[in-house]
Amino acid sequence: MDFIPINFYGNYIDAHIAKGVLEENDIDCWLKDENTVTIDPILTNAVGGIKLMVPKEKAGLAKQILESVRSEQKITVTCPKCGSHNIEPVNTPRKASNWFGAIVGFLTMNYALPVDTVSHCFDCGHEFPIEDEPK
Ligand SMILES: [Zn+2]
Repeated sequence: MDFIPINFYGNYIDAHIAKGVLEENDIDCWLKDENTVTIDPILTNAVGGIKLMVPKEKAGLAKQILESVRSEQKITVTCPKCGSHNIEPVNTPRKASNWFGAIVGFLTMNYALPVDTVSHCFDCGHEFPIEDEPK
């Protein structure tokens, strides 16, 4: 079976969320270069991030599923400053302590590390922490 990359991720948490979504929809998939990026985040750009690989014939469907999940997330997030829904999670530059954290996390298989991801409003530029559940 031919696998092709349909998306790229700068960290393993985003990559695993996407992989989980596809698996729930019965699409075979795997992550390429996950270990490289997790052990040495500085190589993320060099290898092009973690690649989400899916069977060639399912690529269109997989993209559709991920896109619909993304737009659902967009609607549920509101900018506290201007009220816009034009919000997307962005990764902020990693700090040195987090490289260390990523290595420790990899070695101890502890995947519950804090991530440097915030919600970014594309209308006013405001950035705010991502809330897990709407209250
Ligand atoms: Zn805003």
